[in-house]
Amino acid sequence: MLIDRVKCGVCFGCAAVCPFDALRATDKEIIVNSEKCTNCGICRKICPVGAITIEV
Ligand code: SF4
Ligand code: SF4
Repeated sequence: MLIDRVKCGVCFGCAAVCPFDALRATDKEIIVNSEKCTNCGICRKICPVGAITIEV
């Protein structure tokens, strides 16, 4: 998955729902652990601003 840093409001919603513990939140941005991310798409569904893209 990819996060559009311009759109992202750093609400931490995606980090809270990721079942694979792939997202870590700092005070400024969300860091994606690409080794843990399975591209399941759960975070994309809850992002309120459409900042998440799932790669196929
Ligand atoms: S696509 Fe799934 S595994 Fe990857 S960060 Fe989002 S919720 Fe986590
Ligand atoms: S849910 Fe969307 S807006 Fe919120 S931190 Fe994640 S990518 Fe950013």
